[in-house]
Order: sequence, then structure tokens, then C-alpha cells
Amino acid sequence: MKTKDILVIGTGISGLTFAIKVAEKNPTLSLTLISKGDMNEGNTRYAQGGIAVVQDLKRDSTAKHIEDTLIAGDGGCDPKVVTFVVEEANQRLTELINWGTSFDKKKEQLHLGKEGGHSEKRIVHYKDQTGKQIQDVLTEKVKSFPNITILENHTLVDLITDHHSPAEQNRCYGAYVISQEREEIIKITAKITVLSTGGAGSLYAHTTNPSVATGDGLGAAYRAKVQMDRLPYVQFHPTALKEKVNGNVFLITEAVRGAGAKLLNEKFERFMIKMDSRAELAPRDIVARGIQKEIQEQDADHVWLDGSEISEEKWKAHFPTIYKTCKSIGINLPKDYIPVVPAAHYFCGGIKVNEHSESQLKGLYAIGECSATGLHGANRLASNSLLEALVFAHRAAMDCIKSLNENLPDEDFYAALPEWDGDGYSKNYTIEKVHNLREQLQEIMTSYVGIFKTNEGLHKAENKINDIYLQVQQLYNQNKLTNGLSELRNMVSIAYLLTKQAQDITENKGVFYNQNYA
Ligand SMILES: Cc1cc2nc3c(=O)[nH]c(=O)nc-3n(C[C@H](O)[C@H](O)[C@H](O)COP(=O)(O)OP(=O)(O)OC[C@H]3O[C@@H](n4cnc5c(N)ncnc54)[C@H](O)[C@@H]3O)c2cc1C
Repeated sequence: MKTKDILVIGTGISGLTFAIKVAEKNPTLSLTLISKGDMNEGNTRYAQGGIAVVQDLKRDSTAKHIEDTLIAGDGGCDPKVVTFVVEEANQRLTELINWGTSFDKKKEQLHLGKEGGHSEKRIVHYKDQTGKQIQDVLTEKVKSFPNITILENHTLVDLITDHHSPAEQNRCYGAYVISQEREEIIKITAKITVLSTGGAGSLYAHTTNPSVATGDGLGAAYRAKVQMDRLPYVQFHPTALKEKVNGNVFLITEAVRGAGAKLLNEKFERFMIKMDSRAELAPRDIVARGIQKEIQEQDADHVWLDGSEISEEKWKAHFPTIYKTCKSIGINLPKDYIPVVPAAHYFCGGIKVNEHSESQLKGLYAIGECSATGLHGANRLASNSLLEALVFAHRAAMDCIKSLNENLPDEDFYAALPEWDGDGYSKNYTIEKVHNLREQLQEIMTSYVGIFKTNEGLHKAENKINDIYLQVQQLYNQNKLTNGLSELRNMVSIAYLLTKQAQDITENKGVFYNQNYA
């Protein structure tokens, strides 16, 4: 395959927006876009709540949105990043609308929802299916560019770096990728590589993320010695439906609490009011801890979400997916209470990038949930992540186009980069073995590296993860690499790094909570 100008790994909101922006700005550039499975599968399509963008200038202002973000981030945000993200929000939203994305309206104005940690209504949304709406529109649009090649069912394994080349330039030259159809690992070379691989919720037993969210971009970057920032800041969404639906955890968006739903304990008492003056609409970390504490103290396995204040018409109009999903398992809204638990939801940390989303490895950018931009600090404010993806995809696209003018290696250099070494083995481990190790890892992370941590628990987790790591290394060294094994290899590496980093944190901030420092 001839070297491309840009290889984009991941086709959620960040990767697609980036690709569209580059293709619109410079149609002569060649791009390859890869996704691990179907190109629509990723965190983006499950986003319910919406995008935080200041609209109602009578009540709201960018200054208020900036302040809310800084408060939620609990001292960990980079104020410069917060400021430009909030200030660029309207431009990016307008582009999204111009590309064909629909958002709910009230008369001629965009309808605005309110979510935890926001002082005003500013969540722009499409019913409770904002992510799907965006994913569908961007997918359709990206397919219209002849200079973009899309490869579905292609799994990033490792980045190609100077470690693979004699030139010692300390750059990224593309990636080794499993072609699932051909059952082989191919080399895709590119002048610039962009990681937009999303989060890693699958490290935990209970997560709102789809199963593809295994932190593959993080794992590959870690092995390439790229700096990671704030990995232990994992946000747990307070309200996931307790019962899995078709094997998946189903999220009950915060907007439902914004519309008036209340949290009740086993005795049907509101408990958040005694924990925070903002009660159910306190930032996510506080509500998630409040629920977890209540569950532990009451020896329960869930709390209740009472949505009876919301009329049936409103449920159907604003939250149709939740209404239907609940009905499908016998919960009739608004009359019945919804049993909910917290679930791993969002990685605030990731690959450390600058304000153009460039990592510390030349030629490697990271955008969207796999990056750590400085926006979220110790806790992401609700509905700021789709916004972050849009703003940084734009910034990265503009920066990449410029940096392609730099003096880069020629085609002979890329052609000489080695092919993947290791296809000689045949697969001889069982799929169950990989599955069991994945489940063991998820149990360890949930028990010891979840909402409440302790020093002893983290130490135990480190040893247990190390055992799994050694088993995975053995499988990796002796077998042909498959999608499942590659995912497990990334999960165990990131679990280990996260647990190590967590032991260095001695102060509780935002989503990070170690009981020894309470
Ligand atoms: C249930 C849910 C609700 C949410 N609600 C909101 C909300 O209301 N507002 C908000 O702002 N945020 C919300 N979020 C968070 C937000 O949706 C995500 O942070 C955002 O969509 C991430 O976009 P992304 O482009 O970074 O990654 P994703 O959309 O996750 O896309 C990742 C892509 O990477 C690909 N990929 C992964 N690994 C590999 C590999 N090894 N090889 C090749 N490709 C790979 C996947 O195939 C996929 O295409 C929600 C998240 C969830 C899970």
C-alpha cells in the first residue's frame, strides 16, 4: 500500500470530524480511515445528553460555561484550554449543523437541556440520541470524499516509530494493523498518524461503553513511549440501568435528572440532598460517590431513579430511547421507578497533547476521548466531551495540513520500514482463555480501582494485574495475534499503568477518591 498523507485510527466524532475537515480544506491529500469493527460502533453513537454550547445569552455566557468547567475539573483543568474550547464551541456547532446534523428546537431556537454541574441550560441535543444523529451524519459525509479510503474491521496493533527504523528521527510513520478479513497484520504507512480510538470503559465489569472501548490507542501509544496524563481519573456515570439490556449496560442520561427525576434509596428517601446542596444535579463524581455510598451503607445493589415528575408525553418526546428500553424490560414510565447503579463511563485522561492535539511523538496526534487536552482536569463536566472532540479535531486538522509541508521522509524510506514480524505462529490458545483473563481483569479493576480506592487495594490490584500481564505476554509471544488478544494486551497494559499512577496520587480531586486520603 502506498504511503498516505494521513492515517486516522478511529471513526467516532473526533476521527470523522478530523477527516472531513482535512478533506474539505485540501482535497488533494490522501487519507486512510480505519475502524476496529463497523465504523459506526464506538462511544459516539451512544451519547444521549448532547453537546454543551452557550446559546441563551440573556441568561448564560461563555464566562459561566468556563467557570462551570473549572469547578467540575476541581483545580485540574488548564484554564487556557477551557477558554478556547468554550469560545470556539459555537463555530464548531454551526459547522456540524451545516453538515446536516439536526438538533431539537423550541420555536426557532435550539432546545437546551440542563445537566449536572451546569449553572444554566446549555445542552444542545437531538432527543436522547444526540450521538447517533452526529455519527450517522458524519459517516454519510465522510463517504462522499474520493480521497478518503475507509477500512472497517481493521485493528490497530502498534504504531510504527523510529524504533522500527534505522533513521532515529523519533517520529511516527503509521501503524501495524490486523486485517480481520485476511487474518494478517499489514503495514499502513503515513506521514501523519491520528489516534481517535476513544476510551477504555471495558477495563471495568460495569461500563456504559460498548465492548470496542478497550483503550487500544492508549496501549499502542504507551508501548511507543508516548506520555500519558491523568489516566486514573476515570469518570463513573451515576445512573446506568441496573439490568443489562441485550448484554449491554444502558445509560439513563443526566438530562433526566435535569428534567426533574430524583434519586431515592431503599427506603424511598432522597439521599443526595444531605450530601450536596445541588442534590441530584451536583457534578457526576459527587453523585456517583453518593450513590455508591448509599448502596454500600444500605447493603443494596442499586438505588432508584424516580421520574414521576416528568410527564409521559415528555418522556416520549425527549427521552424516547430510555422510555422504550425501560418498557421493554417491564418498567413503565413515568409511574415506575428505575433501578440504577454507577458505571465506568469516561476517561478524563489519556495521551498528553498540546493545544493542536499533537502528542510528544512527532507525527502523532491524538483527538477525542483517547487524548488528555487539559479541558477536563480531575472531572469532566457533562456534555463537554463531544465539544472537546469537535474543537480539537478542527485544531488538529489545521495543524496537520501545515505540518505536511515540513521536510518529511520520501517513499523509499517508508517502503523500507519492516513488515510485522510474528505471523509465523498459528493460533493455539482458546478464545475462552482470553475471555476469562479479560473478565478477571475487569473484576480486579472494579473491586480495587473503582469509585472508592484504598492504598492496600491498589497494591493488591497491581500484583494481580501483573500476574495477568505475564499470562498475556506468554500468549502474545507464542501465538498469532488476533483482535481479542490484541485488545486484552492493551487492556492489561493500561490497567497496570493506571493502577501504578493511582498509587502516586495522594490527594482526592474530582473523580479520584482514595479512602486513605479522605
Ligand atoms: C453511553 C454514553 C453516553 C454519552 N453521552 C455523552 C453526552 O451526552 N455528551 C458528551 O459530550 N459525551 C457523551 N459521552 C462521551 C462521548 O460520547 C465520547 O467521549 C465521544 O463520543 C468519544 O468520541 P471519540 O471519537 O473519541 O471515540 P469513539 O466514538 O469511541 O470512537 C472510537 C473509534 O475508535 C475505533 N477503534 C478503537 N480501537 C481501535 C483499534 N484498535 N483499531 C482501529 N480502530 C479502533 C472504534 O472502532 C471507533 O471507530 C457518552 C459516552 C457514552 C458511552
